[in-house]
Amino acid sequence: MSVPENRGDLFGGQRLRNYHVARARLIPPEHVYPIDEWRIVEKRFYPRFLPQTETIFSVANGYLGMRGDFEEGSPICDGGVYVNGFHETWPIVYGESAYGFAKTGQTIVNAPDGRRIRLYVDDEPFDLERVQLRSFERVLDMREGVVWRDLLFETASGKHVKVRSTRMVSADRRHLAVIDYEVTVLDSPAFVMLASELVNRSSDDAGTDGDPRKVRRFDARVLDTLCRDVEGLRAMTCVRTQSSRLELACGIDHALETTCPWDSRTERGPEVERVIFEVEAQPGRSIRLTKFIAVHDGRHVPTDELTARVERTLTRAMSRGQEQLFAAQRERLASFWSRSDVQIDGEPALQQSVRFNLFQLFQATVRVEGNGVSAKGLTGRGYEGHYFWDAEVYVMPFLTYTAPKQARNLLSFRYGMLEQARERARELSHRGALFPWRTINGEEASAYYAAGTAQYHINADIAFALRKYIAASGDMEFLLEKGAEMLVETARLWEDMGFYSKKHGGAFCINSVTGPDEYTAVVNNNCFTNLMARDNLRTAARVTRSIREDSPAAWRHLCHETGLEPEEIEAWDEAASRMFLPIDEETGVHAQDDSFLEKEIWDFAGTPPEKYPLLLHYHPLTLYRHQVIKQADVVLAMFMLDRDFSPAQKKQNFDYYEPPTTGDSSLSSSIESIVATEIGYPDKAFGYFPEAAVMDLADVGGNVNDGVHIASAGGVWMACVYGFAGMRDEHGVLSFAPQLPAPFQRLAFPITWGGQIFDVEITHDGTTYTLRSGEPIRIHHDGENLELRAGETIKARA
Ligand code: BGC
Repeated sequence: MSVPENRGDLFGGQRLRNYHVARARLIPPEHVYPIDEWRIVEKRFYPRFLPQTETIFSVANGYLGMRGDFEEGSPICDGGVYVNGFHETWPIVYGESAYGFAKTGQTIVNAPDGRRIRLYVDDEPFDLERVQLRSFERVLDMREGVVWRDLLFETASGKHVKVRSTRMVSADRRHLAVIDYEVTVLDSPAFVMLASELVNRSSDDAGTDGDPRKVRRFDARVLDTLCRDVEGLRAMTCVRTQSSRLELACGIDHALETTCPWDSRTERGPEVERVIFEVEAQPGRSIRLTKFIAVHDGRHVPTDELTARVERTLTRAMSRGQEQLFAAQRERLASFWSRSDVQIDGEPALQQSVRFNLFQLFQATVRVEGNGVSAKGLTGRGYEGHYFWDAEVYVMPFLTYTAPKQARNLLSFRYGMLEQARERARELSHRGALFPWRTINGEEASAYYAAGTAQYHINADIAFALRKYIAASGDMEFLLEKGAEMLVETARLWEDMGFYSKKHGGAFCINSVTGPDEYTAVVNNNCFTNLMARDNLRTAARVTRSIREDSPAAWRHLCHETGLEPEEIEAWDEAASRMFLPIDEETGVHAQDDSFLEKEIWDFAGTPPEKYPLLLHYHPLTLYRHQVIKQADVVLAMFMLDRDFSPAQKKQNFDYYEPPTTGDSSLSSSIESIVATEIGYPDKAFGYFPEAAVMDLADVGGNVNDGVHIASAGGVWMACVYGFAGMRDEHGVLSFAPQLPAPFQRLAFPITWGGQIFDVEITHDGTTYTLRSGEPIRIHHDGENLELRAGETIKARA
């Protein structure tokens, strides 16, 4: 096993080498991007990586997100501000439509942008690309929760000017962002003008370039202006999306601190409100502008009400002052890291990448509250800002074991979509509920049903996440109030859509679905789907029975809400116990579906690296008729439903499915790393791990400019905790079987279980467990029972 020297060397196996050759990607040169375990550092202005760094230097809090484009507005590739769930709808136009196709597209839109601060020195505009830069440094500080930039430039007339700006989207105040912008002329007086803007973009300028993963372009104006105002140091705008009729108000306010003489005035352009500060700058005397930005959105909320909320957020923030707001951010981050940090000693580059992934999870979820978590968080508009199964399968484990309240919020958010899911099931002639494969507003938004609606497994993914959350948190209240209803409706759907097949000896079969692997579509008996459906059916049966026995009032409520009949529970058990599992007689492997193993094997040797990802170069039918896999499918089932496979089957399946898995999706490598660890392939485990860990920092997928890969970020946490630490969480027992990769000196992380936090620390000498406080808890370590007591460190066998 070779120890990677730097991020470039982290490109392990053949698959990555292919990628590496295929596209010009971000192998960050270390003199520009030095490794730092707590920060992402950019030592000089590096426009070559602008599209990527706009994503990487994003700041967000799960509600509000700001790309890393500069305050001054230039240079810019695809800058923007996003508000979770603030989207436009549009009619999906099919050349050839059919019954039940998704009708309404949904796309996150660029919200009014309150970040702009244009700087003029002696009336010359500051533009990073044009000025004589003497120094530049930009840092995403993951402990402070801010991004700051420090630079020194020389004007054409030879004056030196220092600019320091710090940007934060507050985790403490959901609707607030703050920019601290400080200008100091160093050697001679100058006339400094700061034009602080609130811009309402008229239309969108992004495009898909034929890549289905990108955002669509809107030709027409998306946002109508309902009101705008600028007075004193405050400006406000209120907009409404044309078709989805969502309203949003954004306001800015300012505080200027300087001992230099200054004045301010306001100005309005066609799409912009400006508060302009004119300062007679004196050498060495700083001009510090603090800009407060507040955003509120809603549907059918009167404009007055929205603007009043913005006014209140601004007024409260101004009275608190920026120092305290930044301090509150620091505290939030300290609490986050104390509950969630994964420490890796001996691998600084990996440590940095792992923390970056955790930080992205924080940014995507900390104040998400009534919304979902989209595939890119709030760092870009890739996948149109849609929520997928990524949230339940890849993000929920992290939240369940580090931030259970947020896990509960996400499940509640899904519950909020239950009525639409019921309607969708009816539309597709099913009983129960069918959750949308991709959505923002609860309706199915996938225009390509074969890789969209057909992914029925989303139902079971939600039920699975719910089951794990309840086991880890013991939150029976949520189960009784909301969870059980979701279990009933999802189980109902499986029981309704499957059937007992004569051909398969009376086994319960589920036909015409697509599993996680989107290079194989609309198949019968996808192994992952069948196993997950079985889990869903069993969980629903178990939970509803125990409610019937133990909680009569909850049982009555559940029956009232769902029309549940006791015989249904029997039917779920029956379907689960007779679920068909395609196992190939010849090889003994679990067939990915009924027909997968009959297909021709993809010609990997004859596929040049530049043809990856295959989805951009081959017609779906070409992919569908081959054994070629976009992302872990059977291998994912082996991780999620670990007890449904014997150790020998796991090995056999992994050996079979690993070679045809392209990794064209970022959702694969973390899972392959986990399973490889479990089956005793440490080299592979350690090979796949960095591929996931540097997915965004090294732009492994070549599309980090569209936003970070939130599922992969969750996968990185899982690869550490479920992979190297061997955590398993079935049947109410938490167990660990650590296998520390040789290059790691130490792996340590906290776990929240039953509302209590304990720390796990793994070295090559053994593992210790320390319960921070509370009642004793029991865990397993390599088959040994351990009782953890508050404040005591237990050392387990090595
Ligand atoms: C994957 C899906 C995933 C989506 C969003 C696709 O490429 O195939 O499984 O949900 O990306 O991350």
